[in-house]
Amino acid sequence: MVVVMEQAARASEVAALVAKVESMGFRVHLMKGEERTLVGVVGDGRPLDRGQIEAMPGVDKTLAVLRPFKLASREMHPEDSLIALNGSKVGGKKVAVIAGPCSVESRSQLLETAHAVAQAGATALRGGAFKPRTSPYSFQGLGVEGLELLAEAREETGLPIVTEAMAPEQIPLVAQHADVIQIGARNMQNFNLLQAAGKAGLPVLLKRGMMATIEEWLMAAEYILSQDNPQVILCERGIRTFEPSTRYTTDINAVPAVKSLSHLPLILDPSHGTGNWEYVTAVARAGIAAGADGLIVEVHPRPQEARSDGAQSLRPEVFEELVRQVSQVAVAVGREGPIRP
Ligand code: PEP
Ligand code: MN
Repeated sequence: MVVVMEQAARASEVAALVAKVESMGFRVHLMKGEERTLVGVVGDGRPLDRGQIEAMPGVDKTLAVLRPFKLASREMHPEDSLIALNGSKVGGKKVAVIAGPCSVESRSQLLETAHAVAQAGATALRGGAFKPRTSPYSFQGLGVEGLELLAEAREETGLPIVTEAMAPEQIPLVAQHADVIQIGARNMQNFNLLQAAGKAGLPVLLKRGMMATIEEWLMAAEYILSQDNPQVILCERGIRTFEPSTRYTTDINAVPAVKSLSHLPLILDPSHGTGNWEYVTAVARAGIAAGADGLIVEVHPRPQEARSDGAQSLRPEVFEELVRQVSQVAVAVGREGPIRP
């Protein structure tokens, strides 16, 4: 339920309401808007006497939140959420472009990529130090050394770091080096990991599971939000369909659907969505045209030598062109690109 306070409600009236609701065993999430305060009330499904709440001083009305994902829902939080990322914001007018290699492979590979994407206008640097690989014999990432290299790349370029944690016990280490914790598609329903990431207090980039419905994805976001961490960025990265000619199928429909159901920012991953570098720029343009708040794109200085996802990685000059084109599309749909087109 959302309790809408009167425009003239006093702070003491809001505090009295919060105390009352908490004493009844419900959790409260305060949202102070420009004009009025909304109080989100979340419980375990037990009914709450709306008449009793509406009778309290300063309360205008109550609204039921019908969706099972309460904190993630737009019913609960009508305004778009903005997530601060090192001076810029994800979810605002300006679209964000996170770029970098699939995996951190070496110091020279990472720094070369980091400088190139920074130069092209990227908002943040991505790179996996812990890699979820289908085969146990494939490169699993450099681990701690990879995290240290990412921190060094941030020092050199000023770009904030987005990197994946695969297990709850990795969270403290990842949080020490990262600006955003990525939860991979294969871990979208690893509920212990979601709760641990939520507790770290950093923004969390939550990828959609390859076989997850939008509702399951938003329920996964709810696990993070319910740790009192409002900083969740959703990432559509393609789902499994019957179509084998691309790696996954980018669910463009998910962009307007999620923007309508949720206040959380949503970015698109055209690299994993297509699996083919030749399709990445076109799908990136489509994502921004459809209303995504940004992109996450794999870039490698020598894709043919990449230890993971080389086939979908862009060479730096191709990435630069992607940023140019995406910036034009952003302007065409009333947004701003990472660069002035
Ligand atoms: C990645 O970002 O490199 C990755 C492994 O992505 P996903 O979890 O979407 O497969
Ligand atoms: Mn990858």
